[in-house]
Amino acid sequence: MRIPTADRIIETRSLTRRFAGKTGLFRATTFVSAVNEVSLEIRRGETFSIVGESGCGKSTLARLLVRLLQPSEGSVLYEGNDISTLSEGDVRRLRKDLQFVFQDPFSSLNPRMTVGALIEEPMRVHTRLSRTERRRKVAELLSKVGLRPAFANRYPHEFSGGQRQRIGIARALASGPKIIVGDEPVSALDVSVQAQVINLLEDLKSEFDLTLILIAHDLAVIRHMSDRVAVMYLGEIVELAPNDALFDKPLHPYTRALMRAIPIASPHGRTMDATLTGDVPSPLAPPSGCRFHPRCPHATDLCSAQKPAATEAGDGRMVACHHWQKIAEIPEVFAQEPPRNQTAAKRFALFRERSQQKEPTTAASK
Ligand code: SF4
Repeated sequence: MRIPTADRIIETRSLTRRFAGKTGLFRATTFVSAVNEVSLEIRRGETFSIVGESGCGKSTLARLLVRLLQPSEGSVLYEGNDISTLSEGDVRRLRKDLQFVFQDPFSSLNPRMTVGALIEEPMRVHTRLSRTERRRKVAELLSKVGLRPAFANRYPHEFSGGQRQRIGIARALASGPKIIVGDEPVSALDVSVQAQVINLLEDLKSEFDLTLILIAHDLAVIRHMSDRVAVMYLGEIVELAPNDALFDKPLHPYTRALMRAIPIASPHGRTMDATLTGDVPSPLAPPSGCRFHPRCPHATDLCSAQKPAATEAGDGRMVACHHWQKIAEIPEVFAQEPPRNQTAAKRFALFRERSQQKEPTTAASK
C-alpha cells in the first residue's frame, strides 16, 4: 500500500550501494552489494525502524537515506526531490533537515570542542542566528535533553555515556531537522540509561515534529518505539509491516526466526516452525533466487531459481517470499500468544520504570 505523496517524506527507488571488495595483483575487483534494489516509503512523523543481523546492510541503508553515502544505483527522494545526485554544496545545505545520531557518543563528538561549541556549530552553518541567540539556544537544547545549561563550558570526556548521547541528540536538534536517523543510538549504553535516552527521543520526536529512522538489532527497542518496521537480510528488505502486525504475526521465515529470539512466558507450551539451518552466506557471492534459500526450512526449487518479488500482504504489509501465504498458516507461537508476549511486555515496562532512575554520576554531574 503506497503512502500518499503529501505524507511521504522519504522514498527510495531500487536503491543499491556496492562497495569494492579486496583486490589482488592478478585479481579482478569484486563488489559487495551492501544494499540491493531497496524500494520503500517513509511517512512524515513516523518512527520507521530497520532491523536485521549485523552486516545485513541496515546502517548502509540509513546512511543512503540521508545522503551520508551516495547510491551506486537507484534514487532517494526527500520531499519529492531526488537527493541522490546532489552536489557536495547542496548536500551540506540538506544536512540542516537530515541529521544523524551515532552509536558511539564518544567518537562522534570532537573531544577538543566544548559541549556549547559542539551544539552551536550546526547553527553557525545552517542558520542566521546571532551569537547571543545561538548561545541562548544551546542552553535551551541542553535543558531539553535533560542537562544543565552550565555544562556548555565542559568537554565531552567529562560526561557519562548517556550524557554524551544526550549531547549528540542536542547537536542533532540544533539545526532544526525534519528527520533524525538513530543508528543503534542506545546499544552502547547501560540498560537503565538506554531507557532514558529512548524516552527522551520519543518525547523530542513529538515536541519537534520529527520523523525518526531507527536502526537497531534489539527487538525490544524496535517493538517499543516503532510505527513500522523493515526487516533486512543480506542487503534486501524481506518484510515491511506495521509494528504490531510484524510482532504478532511475522510472515517471512527470516522474520519468524528473528522473533523466536524473544523469550516467551511459557516456553513449554511453545510450538515452533522448523528452525533455520546453515550460516549467513557471503555477501560477495549472494545465493541465487531468494537470498535466504540456503537457510530457509521452507525452500523449494522455485526459491533458488527465482527471486521473490515484494508482494502486498494486506494491512499495509509487504513480504518478499514465494510461499508466504502457506507459511502464515503454520501455527507458531506468535499467532497463539497475546499481542504482546509477557516477557517482552515486562521488558518494555522496565524501560519506563528505569527511566525514572538517575543516570550514573560523573564529575560533570556534580
Ligand atoms: Fe524461504 Fe523460499 Fe520464502 Fe525464500 S522464497 S523465504 S527460500 S520460502
